Amino acid sequence: MELVAALLIFGVVFYLLMRLGCGARMVHGMTLSGSAGTRAGGESVETTDPVCGMTVEAADSISEEHGGRVFRFCSEDCHRRFKAHPEMYAKS
Ligand SMILES: [Zn+2]
Repeated sequence: MELVAALLIFGVVFYLLMRLGCGARMVHGMTLSGSAGTRAGGESVETTDPVCGMTVEAADSISEEHGGRVFRFCSEDCHRRFKAHPEMYAKS
């Protein structure tokens, strides 16, 4: 029974890490321009997170409107950073 509980907890923690950390937060600093255009699926709309530069899928992203444009974020963390300084990220 303990093993089942441990697996369950592991699963939940893993799921939360993927949801909250966009799965690639740890390499944000290293992949400045690597993620754009690597996938050629075309079945869903992809945009770039203005905060970390990551490619995000519109379907499961957090969005925020600023100056008439909609920006999308890979994680709540990036969303918070954008809201703190929108003028810094909304340019171009
Ligand atoms: Zn991000």
